[in-house]
Order: sequence, then structure tokens, then C-alpha cells
Amino acid sequence: MRTRFAPSPTGPLHLGHAFSALVADDLAQAVGGTFLLRIEDIDQSRARPEWEAQIYDDLRWLGLDWPEPVMRQSDRMDAYGQALDHLWAAGLLYPCACTRRDIAEALSAPQEGAPAFGPDGPIYPGTCRPVTAPGGPRPRDAVLRLNMSAALAHLGASDWSFTETGINAGPTRVASDHLLTHVGDVVLARRGMGTSYHLSVVVDDADQGITQVVRGVDLAEATAFHIVLQDLLGLPRPVYHHHCLIRDAKGKRLAKRDDARAIALYRAEGRTPADIRRMVGL
Ligand code: GLU
Repeated sequence: MRTRFAPSPTGPLHLGHAFSALVADDLAQAVGGTFLLRIEDIDQSRARPEWEAQIYDDLRWLGLDWPEPVMRQSDRMDAYGQALDHLWAAGLLYPCACTRRDIAEALSAPQEGAPAFGPDGPIYPGTCRPVTAPGGPRPRDAVLRLNMSAALAHLGASDWSFTETGINAGPTRVASDHLLTHVGDVVLARRGMGTSYHLSVVVDDADQGITQVVRGVDLAEATAFHIVLQDLLGLPRPVYHHHCLIRDAKGKRLAKRDDARAIALYRAEGRTPADIRRMVGL
């Protein structure tokens, strides 16, 4: 078994991150597997070297170790470019010029009804979706969306199943209708970034040989899309382990800005790694 923890170096690790990393490591250690680390720093406008250094420090303090070199997404633009080229050549991507506001306005038109939300916010209304696939070379600094309906036709399946452990343990089925209505034409390349969270995570999990992805249940909708992306790119499918989210006293999910729950502050207060395990229920 190969598991991973994949934080973005955009703020301090908090209890929720510690929980995810510890669950991934526990699962691997229980069967003599391997726990790996990946730094998800494609958003160079937000990633900071000091946060990355703090991640290494906090994880080592928690007793975690990773026997292989850390994978850093900012070093992997060629791999993402190849995946995008593959999808572009298959006619499954198109450039999109819509702003967030354009999308909100298109969705507020009365005939559209209430907008559904997917793993990237409101489901794209299809304003820029071409009738026939764009030809020519792939545009470099453009927003590229996946044409979901073309992608589903390309794969020719009406549903997908994958295996889950964790809080949704069992076989999970995803229907193509659900992908059209609840995921839609997801952005796979962002302007100024050359990739997106969804594309990078799927390519990287395959290249790191991850067999079990451990992540919060808030990403379950993204997982439903990631299995389709794996099929489009010919990548193996890991088992998915969604875990519950660590919440604050008011029941709100912890976020990066919740510095009050930063591992670094618990450390400074003299708490131990065993205290952290207890706090997250492990
Ligand atoms: N960087 C993502 C996060 O911190 C990775 C999660 C995942 O894809 O499993 O939420």
C-alpha cells in the first residue's frame, strides 16, 4: 500500500491536516506500506517557502517520515502539459473566456433555475462550449475546460464504480448523469497556472504510485470526477479513503485561516504528538 499526504503550502497545518496525514500514515504502517509526501504548490501566488518548511517541521514532530523524495507540483509542469495535450488531441478540452461574474450572471437567468454546485463552485453554464472540438495546437495561457458530455461519450460508459474505505466504505457508483449535473465542465488548466488542482492530483497520484488516496469527505465530489479523469488519461485507479472533517467547537470545518488550531501553536504550548492524536480522535 502506498498512501500520501498532499498539503498546499499556503498556511499553517491545523488539526484537520494532522488528522489526514496520521490516518494515511497509520493505514500504510498497518500493512508495512509506504507513506509519501507531496507539496501541492501549483498556486504560486499563494505558496510560500516558509509554509513548506513549517509543513516538514510539523510532520516530523508528529512522528511522520516519508522514505521517498517529496514530490513538488511546481516541478511537474511538463507532466501536466502532456496530460492536457492528450485531452486536447482527443477533442475534449475547450478554451473558456468567462469571468466568475459572467458565470454568475448566466446562471442567474430565470430559466436556468437554481445553480447546482460542483467541486469547483457553480456548474458551468456552457457559454464557451463549442459545438465541434477546437482544432490546432493547444492554447498555452488559457483557461481550458473539460467538455464533460464529450468526455462521457468518448468513454462510452454510463456509470463508474470504485472502491472506498473510510466513512463511505464499500463500492461507490457514479452515474454519468450525475457528472453532467453535479460536476460539469470543470477547469483543467487555469490561466497563469498551466494546470488545475484536479488535473495535477490525478496525474501525481498515478506517478507516485499511490494505491490508497486518503482525503477529507469534502473532496468526495471531486473524487467522483477524478475517477473519470483517470479513465480519460489511462491511469490506474487507487482505492479512496474519505475521512470525516475535524470541526471547531461551533461545528465549523477548520480552514487554513484558523491559526488558533495550528499545529505550531499547540507545539509552542507544550502539547505532545500524543495530545494531537487524542484531540483528533486517533
Ligand atoms: N492539496 C489538497 C488539500 O490540501 C490535497 C487533497 C487531496 O487531493 O487529497 O486539500
